[in-house]
Amino acid sequence: RAKHGGRNTYAKFSPEMDERMQERVHLETLLRLAPAAGQLRLVYQPKVNLCSGEIIGCEALVRWHHPQLGLIPPGKFIPVAEESGLILPISDWVLRTACMQARAWSDAGLPRIPVAVNISAAQLLQQDLAQWALGMLAETGLAPELLELELTESLIAQDVERMIATFDQLKAAGVKLSIDDFGTGYSNLSHLKNFRVDTLKIDQSFVQNMLDKPDDATIVRAVITLAHNLRLKVIAEGVETAEHCRMLRAHGCDEIQGYYFSKPVSAQEFEAMVRQGRRLRLDDIEP
Ligand code: C2E
Ligand code: MG
Ligand code: MG
Ligand code: MG
Repeated sequence: RAKHGGRNTYAKFSPEMDERMQERVHLETLLRLAPAAGQLRLVYQPKVNLCSGEIIGCEALVRWHHPQLGLIPPGKFIPVAEESGLILPISDWVLRTACMQARAWSDAGLPRIPVAVNISAAQLLQQDLAQWALGMLAETGLAPELLELELTESLIAQDVERMIATFDQLKAAGVKLSIDDFGTGYSNLSHLKNFRVDTLKIDQSFVQNMLDKPDDATIVRAVITLAHNLRLKVIAEGVETAEHCRMLRAHGCDEIQGYYFSKPVSAQEFEAMVRQGRRLRLDDIEP
């Protein structure tokens, strides 16, 4: 027995940990092949305006379909990609695919709908975000106004000076920027005024708890007020019920995204939704 080892030392060699390590290594090996093997897909989730009910944008979310393992959610493979350096080729595939899709929609005369892409923290340490994104816009011919980048708070806090310069460069080109999962990153709020972002995204944990937990409702209201006072737009994610919509609308939230309106869908389904003029039924979310 490892008498002096303590719990951590002991845990390090537990068969369970070993199994998890092996699974990670295994996933990494398979993930390396995924982009070229055509196993990655993007799904698109509509963003809806709470006043007009109209679809005003979408977020591209990556999916990995492995022939044997089935569907692997991003929460499981993005961390593996970040630790192994595979995040660069995967992000490249995601951004190129999203830009080409948005370009195709724009060419097909679809109303101008920006596509939002998630940016991972590890990626930012490894490359120049502005150069990469602007390069991809040039390569795909997409108008910069039709691309939005979603970054998390913690990521922005890492190298403030460099991030301010990066954001300025992207904003000058016309790219939209939003802060994802806002409220979970304990960021220095004073930085917010220096970052030229367009939108704050209220994290879904606050939205989902706000009806029964007064503290979460307080945070939701505070983020909406903060955003508006800084002349930013605010969107709530993870909106699942009419009750969520009602409360968010009552507090003046600008936009919503969530299962209540639509789950993430294929590019074809999203396009059909927009063409059919599908919108949020405001009657259903009347106070
Ligand atoms: P996120 O950017 O905060 O995306 C929101 C997540 O909430 C998505 O999960 C979405 O499918 C889910 N969601 C949307 N509406 C609802 C709802 O009403 N209820 C609930 N319970 N969930 C809802 P998903 O697609 O599994 O993505 C999880 C996270 O993985 C994302 O969080 C993002 O951080 C990351 N991710 C996804 N795609 C990419 C990508 O292409 N690149 C990078 N770097 N990260 C990605
Ligand atoms: Mg996001
Ligand atoms: Mg989020
Ligand atoms: Mg999230």
